[in-house]
This record gives sequence, structure tokens and C-alpha cells, in this order.
Amino acid sequence: MNQKRIRRIVIAGGGTAGWMVAACISKIMGKILDIKLIESDEIGTVGVGEATIPTLVAFHRLLDINEQEFMAATQATFKLGIGFDNWRDRGLNYIHSFGITGTDHWTAGFQHFWLKGRERNLASDYGDYCLELVASLANRFAHLPRDGMNYAFHLDAGLYAKFLRRFSEGYGVKRIEGKIVEVKTNAESGYIESLRLDSGNDIEGDLFIDCTGFRGLLIGQALKIGYDDWSHWLFNDSALALQTESVGEPVPYTRSIAHESGWQWRIPLQSRVGNGIVYSSRYIDDEQAKQTLLGNIQGKILTEPRVIRFKPCQRQQVWSKNCIAMGLASGFLEPIESTSIHLISRAVSRLMQSFPSEGIQQSDIDEYNERSNWEIQHIRDFIILHYHVTQRQDSPYWRACREMKIPASLQHRIDLFRETGRVFRVPNELFAENSWVQVMLGQGLMPEQHHQVADLMGDAELANFLGTIKARIAKTVAQLPSHQAYVEQYCKAP
Ligand code: FAD
Repeated sequence: MNQKRIRRIVIAGGGTAGWMVAACISKIMGKILDIKLIESDEIGTVGVGEATIPTLVAFHRLLDINEQEFMAATQATFKLGIGFDNWRDRGLNYIHSFGITGTDHWTAGFQHFWLKGRERNLASDYGDYCLELVASLANRFAHLPRDGMNYAFHLDAGLYAKFLRRFSEGYGVKRIEGKIVEVKTNAESGYIESLRLDSGNDIEGDLFIDCTGFRGLLIGQALKIGYDDWSHWLFNDSALALQTESVGEPVPYTRSIAHESGWQWRIPLQSRVGNGIVYSSRYIDDEQAKQTLLGNIQGKILTEPRVIRFKPCQRQQVWSKNCIAMGLASGFLEPIESTSIHLISRAVSRLMQSFPSEGIQQSDIDEYNERSNWEIQHIRDFIILHYHVTQRQDSPYWRACREMKIPASLQHRIDLFRETGRVFRVPNELFAENSWVQVMLGQGLMPEQHHQVADLMGDAELANFLGTIKARIAKTVAQLPSHQAYVEQYCKAP
């Protein structure tokens, strides 16, 4: 294919994506590569994206990032899950938390024992059997030595990019301030040769990482790679974001509050709260969305509401020729399950695994693209689940969500769970059984039966089994410090 050795990496864009990619490549291969990152202060970043999932902890471990320093530098708090208010129906709430519920059982998932317990009046809420969920509601947190809690962070996106910039520059990344005005490609191969800046300088490279956000300057505008549009399944295409002062102690979970034609996020940091509303312009206009958001804000507003437009879509090929798109340039579904930052870390680790040092091979490109597509399709299904399985009928938006035809892969999972109580994680899929069960039950999907193995337990045995788990969790949580106290003490002593 293209046998040119890859030595010069050019990262276009310095948002969360650009700097995560720079940090990872420079830490792992910085000694043998020349890495440049171009960003434009004038254009700026999207400025949202502050809730993460536990894979970021692993990403930081890979980079040897000191967690206390990172948290202090980014005003971060801990996150144990997402609270969904009014999603199943108005007035009904649940939490999708990290971790596992109950215990692992090789024959049947814990939900089967819980379903049996519920039928016999021996079980309380499903969430009572999950450590992370109970700790979320109690607003407590600590790193636990054994069977620790599965956690992620809420962070300030702007501070995170700065933190990663310092880190990357420490490993030799050269930052170039400037606006890319032209992408120069080879007339024969179509490969990108250089990026022309507004200063007139040409930045040459062997491999280009497109992190230019929704613009997709290299992958879309120059290489003409289009999107698969998923707006027939995911109706939201707009968001309004603003920041407020904190009004109380930060809770260790993201709040997601459903409204008539979309939903609102609340992300508590140490110093402030990130807020926003995600909505469908097919159902409400920006002004209605703004009024809904402003009507549900706590605390003094620190920034003006800002409209962000997006298209729920996936780039048809995230790797084309010598350009790989990461972050928003590669596609975006919507922020409900905080998956975008995770996908950046997955993309860069996939690149590291397939790094084309001796030249780009089509087989590497095909493998990379196939794995990216596969990964995003499972996440897409999980996100659609939140909208489709709802009892809300109070607005055209929710009625359309209920009535839409969903992907066959998701329909199968829903049918399987409803009919049998079973759910199986596809190997390497991001969301495991715990997530699927919590969200399906939370959205009001109740199985019609449970696995017979749960019937083998008598009432006394089942009550003891469920009661022991619940009591152990309650005891552990009662001994945890408050989330706020823990964050303060943890960030004080890096
Ligand atoms: P951007 O932040 O847009 O950065 C693009 C970069 O490219 C900037 O540095 C810009 O200056 C540069 N650039 C663009 N054009 C040029 C040019 N011509 N010349 C030079 N430089 C250029 N993700 C999560 O994981 N959790 C969340 O909670 C979450 N919430 C979100 C909420 C909303 C409403 C939206 C829209 C997204 C959310 N995301 C979330 C996604 C998350 O914001 C992004 O994945 C993340 O910020 C990465 O963005 P990016 O770096 O790809 O793009």
C-alpha cells in the first residue's frame, strides 16, 4: 500500500480529543516520533464534555497520570453513575451506576434472584444491591482497598485540555498556534501531505489525526468521507450549555432530567456546576429550550447559554488514507451516557495497537474501521434503549420515541429480556450486563419470567441471600466519608 515510514504525526485540533491523543502517543512513542499539534485559540473548542466513565481511570493509569494531581488541576469530582429523572415517566427516577448489582452467578444473572425475591415480597429496590448506587444516593465516596468502587470523574473540559497539554509537551509534543486554511493532498494517491496555516506555513506530516471537532476539516472536508446519519433513531440535534455556581455539596453522579422534548444535564464539579439541555429542533425551538433550562437551574448563572448543533452520526470510515478522525470529527451520538471521551481513548489505544510504523496497509485500515463501527453500534443501541423503552406519552417527542422502529439488534435484546429476564454482553462491548439490566428495569421493562435456578432457593434462603448483600452494602456505605470531604482531602495532598 503506502510504504512510507511513519515518523511525523500531525494532530489537527486541540480540544479534549487532540490533547488526549497527543498525551497517549507522546507517552508511548514520543521518543521515536515527531509529534505536532495545531490548534486555533480563535476557533476555540466545543467547551462541553465533562462527565466520564470508568475507562478514563484506566486511560490515566496507562499514562501514569497521578490521579490527585489530575483532580486538583481539573476541579474534578468522582462519578459513580447517572441519575435518570422522569425518563421512565414523569415523577419516576432511577440510577444507572457503575459496578455490579448483587453477585456474579455462573448460571443466571443476579436479576433472576431479585425477580424471584420481588415476586415473593422478599426484595427491595434493585439498586439496594449495588454498592456504587447506594453510595451515590448517600453522597459518599472513598477508594476502597478490596472490591473497590468502580468510578469515573466529572471534570472541567477546558482545564483537562490544559492539563494534558502540559503533560504532552513534557513528552516532546510541539504545539503550533494557527488556523488551518488548506489541506494539501497528493494528486495521485490522495494522501494528505501538509496543512497550510493562516500564517502561510505548511505543516508536513506522514500521519494526520483529525481532531478538529464537528468541522472534520481533514476527514470530511478534504477527504470527503461522509456520515451514517442516525437521526431517525436519535432525535436530538441541539444543545444549550451554561455554568452555574454550586449550591450545595457535589453529588457523585451526573443528573439527567428528562423534559418534554429532550433532557437536561447537571454535572457537579468542585467549583461550579456544568448544565445543559439536549433537545430536538424538530420538536422545540432554541428559545423554548432555553426557557426550560433556565427554569430548572440552581444557583447563580456564570456564563451565557450557548447553542451547539450536532448531527447524531458516525463517520463512514474513521481512517481513510493517512488520516484518522478522533473525537467529534469521527462522529457523535449524543451525550446521555458520557461515551465520547471514552471513545477517544479507545480510538487512540486502537491506533497504538495498529501503529503503521513501516507504512500504511489497507488491512490495518479495514480492521481499524471495522472495530470502530462495531464498537459504536453497540453504544448506539444502548442509547436508543433509553428513549424507546419509556412509558412517557405526554408529548409528540416521547410518543415518537416509543413508536419508532429500532435496530433489530436492540429489538432482540429487549425481547429477550422481556420474555426471559436474560441479557448477555457481547464480548468487548462497552456496556456490560449490569448496565443493560439497570437501564431496562429503570425504564420500566419488567421481565415476564426468571431463570428456574432462582426457584431452587426456598424463601428463607433467598431472603438471607438478598438480605446479606443489602446489609453488607449498607454497612460499607455507612462507613464512607462524604464525597465532598473525600475530594477535599484527596486533592489537598497530591
Ligand atoms: P473540539 O472541542 O471542538 O475541538 C476542536 C479543536 O479543533 C479545537 O482546538 C479547535 O480550535 C480546532 N480547530 C478546528 N478547526 C480548526 C482550524 N481550521 N484550524 C486550527 N484548529 C482548528 N463527552 C463525554 O465524554 N461526556 C460528556 O458529558 C459529554 N457531553 C457533551 C455534551 C454536548 C452537548 C456535546 C455536543 C458533546 C458532549 N461530549 C461529551 C462530547 C465531548 O464534548 C467531545 O467528545 C470532546 O469535547 C472532544 O471534542 P473534540 O476535541 O473532538 O472537538
